Amino acid sequence: TSTSAAPNLGARYATELAELVVHWQAADAARPETLLVNEALAAELGIDPEYLRSDEGARLLVGSHVPSGATPVAQAYAGHQFGGYSPRLGDGRALLMGELADGRDLHLKGSGRTPFARGGDGLAAVGPMLREYIISEAMHALGVPTTRSLAVTATGNTVHREEPLPGAVLARVAAGHERVGTFQFARALAGKDNKGDDNDNDNTVLRRLADHAIARHHPRAAGAANPYLELFSSVLRVQADLVARWMLLGFVHGVMNTDNTTISGETIDYGPCAFMESYDPATVFSSIDTGGRYAYGNQPGIMQWNLARFAEALVPLIDPDPDEAVRLLTEELNTFPDAYRRAFADGMRDKLGLPGRGDAGGGADAGSGDGAGPGGGSGESSGADDEQVRMLIEDLLALLAATHVDFTNFFRNLTAAARGDETGLRELFAAAPGGSCSEADPGAGEGPADAWLARWRAMAPSATRMADANPVYIPRNHLVEEALDAATAGDLGPVRNLVVVVTDPYTERPGLERYLEPAPAGAAPHVTYC
Ligand code: AMP
Ligand code: MG
Ligand code: MG
Repeated sequence: TSTSAAPNLGARYATELAELVVHWQAADAARPETLLVNEALAAELGIDPEYLRSDEGARLLVGSHVPSGATPVAQAYAGHQFGGYSPRLGDGRALLMGELADGRDLHLKGSGRTPFARGGDGLAAVGPMLREYIISEAMHALGVPTTRSLAVTATGNTVHREEPLPGAVLARVAAGHERVGTFQFARALAGKDNKGDDNDNDNTVLRRLADHAIARHHPRAAGAANPYLELFSSVLRVQADLVARWMLLGFVHGVMNTDNTTISGETIDYGPCAFMESYDPATVFSSIDTGGRYAYGNQPGIMQWNLARFAEALVPLIDPDPDEAVRLLTEELNTFPDAYRRAFADGMRDKLGLPGRGDAGGGADAGSGDGAGPGGGSGESSGADDEQVRMLIEDLLALLAATHVDFTNFFRNLTAAARGDETGLRELFAAAPGGSCSEADPGAGEGPADAWLARWRAMAPSATRMADANPVYIPRNHLVEEALDAATAGDLGPVRNLVVVVTDPYTERPGLERYLEPAPAGAAPHVTYC
């Protein structure tokens, strides 16, 4: 199904939601040159990777070549940034090129100023665009719903940051780009009277946006008694699952503003994100998050806060009586903590190799929709009842916080321990700042992890289950920086190597030892900028 021509691009969003877009054209690129192409994703989309490397393909990927029938637009949205509301954000440096054959968006980031650019230059540097490519593709390989990266294309233009940098455009593919902030923007169209269109007192645009989002991302809501309330609870559920997946991997998004919270449930906007190394709920990487609002441990609470803003935007659609609408939405919003805890606990059970909830009788995972899931064998369920597992997880997180062992390597070594090899685990604790030296002097008594390990072992963990849940390779911050520095200087080799490793994260391979290691001890704390 490969095509050696430009993909056909629909204009569904631009047409159905004309009030929420500005038709726009990308800035000129001096010398477009495709740097990195995602061959697997291109194949999935029926696009020939060779086309993307051609002159026309490179021009398509920076927005200079607009295939016939396509209508590039900048999308309008509002949003709460670090808790403060901005009524008008929107794509300041990005364009929705249109919908691909499978319904997903083709979107360009770094394609020049738009009417939403405010003070920004509309551009992006090669480093940050490759960073989004690496991390989003790693996230996809780790099973996390996410926007995808199709290609990074150098523009040949210079971008001025602290220093002059090579410019680039990221071609992103996503189920959709509707955000909580899009609903906030649509909701705010009602009641304005300065401009003709901004007087949508019947909330027709908001309703059309909700209908669009239901049809596209949550079609089952259409059949519900109250489709818009069901839309809200569908988004709540996918976002509870999403943030649980982040937490299970140690992912810190870094800029969980409501304009960066999707309706589809995909992770979006890989600006200041990074993976936590030693476990600490207060972990923050972003240079601008000085208050720690978006710290690792705050992410579930912030997601619920963002969903509350979504609920507020939906009020007029839920019930003619605003009090009743608020009551219904609040009731639904209050289910978030349990939905999150359940998703996190289920994921932790996988990471610890324990049967899923409800498996004690040998049945399928409760509510996972995956009746043929691993585990569930009657031999595995001994003793792993809900309360015991809850305590085991709680005590593990306390142990990790006290010992400061590397989060990813703990679970990787625990997987080896489930196979009978405890060496790595012992070394990890022995070397950790808060670990013990029971390995160096086995006679010296119990290490801090021993009591916990004994309880875990008594639950008969399955190593196979663990190997599927615990990645060996994550994009280590210092390796990402090293690869981006090389790319900025013209050498794409380290980026290519890193992409190969992080997009096949569950299989440990010889020769890749340096990809396992956290930042060297004594290295300065990792700081990200967006
Ligand atoms: P973010 O924090 O990345 O979600 O971006 C917030 C807002 O700033 C969005 O409206 C972006 O389009 C806009 N923005 C970010 N960087 C630039 C830039 N270099 N030029 C124009 N707009 C930008
Ligand atoms: Mg954003
Ligand atoms: Mg951003």
